[in-house]
Amino acid sequence: MKSFFKMSETYAPTLKEVPAEAELASHRLLYRSGMIRKSAAGIYSFLPLGFRVLSKIEDIVREEMAEIGCQELLLPVVQPAELWKESGRWDVYGPELARFTDRHGRGFCLGPTHEEIITSLIRADVRSYRELPLSLFQINMKFRDEIRPRFGLLRGREFIMKDAYSFHETQESLQEHYDLQAMAYGRICERLGLVYRPVEADSGQIGGKVTTEFMALADAGEAELVYCDCGYAANTEVGEAVFERIPVSAKPVEIKKISTPGTSTISALAKFLDVEESQTVKALAGKTPEGILVLFFVPGNRDLNMIKATNLIGDFALLEEEDFVKFGIVKGFIGPVGVPAKTRIIADGSLENDRAWIVGANEKDFHFAGASIGRDFNVEMFADLTTARAGDSCPQCGAVLDTARGIEVSQVFQLGKRYSESMNATYLDANGKEQNFFMGCYGVGISRSLAAVIEQNNDEHGIIWPMSIAPMEVVVVPLAKEGDDAFRVAEDIARELADSGIETVFDDRSERAGVKFADADLIGWPVQVVLGKKGYENGTAEVKLRGTEGKVEVPLNDVASHVANLVNTEKLRFN
Ligand code: ATP
Ligand code: MG
Repeated sequence: MKSFFKMSETYAPTLKEVPAEAELASHRLLYRSGMIRKSAAGIYSFLPLGFRVLSKIEDIVREEMAEIGCQELLLPVVQPAELWKESGRWDVYGPELARFTDRHGRGFCLGPTHEEIITSLIRADVRSYRELPLSLFQINMKFRDEIRPRFGLLRGREFIMKDAYSFHETQESLQEHYDLQAMAYGRICERLGLVYRPVEADSGQIGGKVTTEFMALADAGEAELVYCDCGYAANTEVGEAVFERIPVSAKPVEIKKISTPGTSTISALAKFLDVEESQTVKALAGKTPEGILVLFFVPGNRDLNMIKATNLIGDFALLEEEDFVKFGIVKGFIGPVGVPAKTRIIADGSLENDRAWIVGANEKDFHFAGASIGRDFNVEMFADLTTARAGDSCPQCGAVLDTARGIEVSQVFQLGKRYSESMNATYLDANGKEQNFFMGCYGVGISRSLAAVIEQNNDEHGIIWPMSIAPMEVVVVPLAKEGDDAFRVAEDIARELADSGIETVFDDRSERAGVKFADADLIGWPVQVVLGKKGYENGTAEVKLRGTEGKVEVPLNDVASHVANLVNTEKLRFN
């Protein structure tokens, strides 16, 4: 990378104002520091400084992929519909997939992810077990027509991802490479200076069961995680909810229909009956694609986790007004007693030992007390249905869980044979027999990581880059005018630094000192060298490390070595 440039020649349009929609620090600061500009919702240009940061993140990712034997290639963004039909995802991916038709009427999409393309490539060219295992990655643009693009680079529609795919003969070989990728992902987070946690996660649209997300901890994060000192951590989308619920009665009692006027909410019901919310039973009604009623029951003080529910029974839709009438149930008073014969009743495990449910009577303003499993209704299955939360027990060690918010910066998946079977991708094993590949896939949000770093590293003045990815390492700011001796000395120092391999910006603009300082902190140059008039007369310059208190006066002759030292020490912290 070029290691010297002048601020006067640099396209870095810094701003005081921010777009009204920029709620988060990373969005505001990327905009104000002149690193990104919006072209449409969730679609951005990277200006030179932003692009430098992006490139440095990519370089770190490339180094870590090289370490684990993952080779770089480049796949097309435009993908034929046929491949997506083969994998079965064309019909299920939904409106996030941007589809279009070419002039010949052929269907295409903009790649939101690349399992189909890579599988079609490998099935054509890799024939023998001798060529396995094989791991490949690309750094490329992805397009997902997100329903709510927001927070700048954190949730774009067009964004940059590193995605890797691996092919194996056996589950063991897949596991081995999955572990290497996960290790590399941890290293990438560390080199970006991110405070992060690997967490158990849901595999979403990609498929497969074994998966880990890497979460950069940040209050602005859209994800919630539960974690424990023992090392356990999980996205609350999937984390097992372990908690104690005291049953109303462990033995059957008489069932009573009780009048409970105006108690369509759990809190109103609990108040009316003078019981704890946890003692009541909350219901959620849905219907399967075949039109069968599904009722989920959880303790009154907990929420049904929709991802767990879907993972358990497959897709279902919440009921529309007319469905309630059709199935003969009443919103706010839903219960398991007397429902249509085919109804699927699924209950949270914590309700299994309670023989006296307080639950809706499927009649406005009425509930049952003492409704008993096996006598008054049947439960098809008991399962972990609620969302884990702070205070629950750790599923691994039993200690009390805490929660945090996080930004998902990357995720690794074991796909197994999900794509090799649906797309018929095979190789010949040692016995000459056709076998489907075991596959893994591994994604890092490059542009999202960039924003996550800023979310974790900023103050009221601007960005505080870790040395590993700062757009440049050092800025030299002369306060004298061009032509003055002090200006010349400052430029000499800047050039000396650059010659020694340190990325140096020389702020030669004829701006006021205040403007130069504000821009330096806003952009977040890590090391800032200021040569003022007084310093020049005393033979010293001021050196500051962004994000730390205090400045040091350094004799002009020592500035270059002092700064080089600072830069190298900081680099080592992120290595
Ligand atoms: P999310 O749950 O946040 O929508 P995802 O789980 O759908 O993300 P993956 O399919 O796992 O995303 O993609 C791999 C990585 O790509 C994510 O870990 C994330 O860093 C990045 N990524 C995904 N969607 C976006 C987006 N809309 N904008 C920016 N980066 C994204
Ligand atoms: Mg993900």
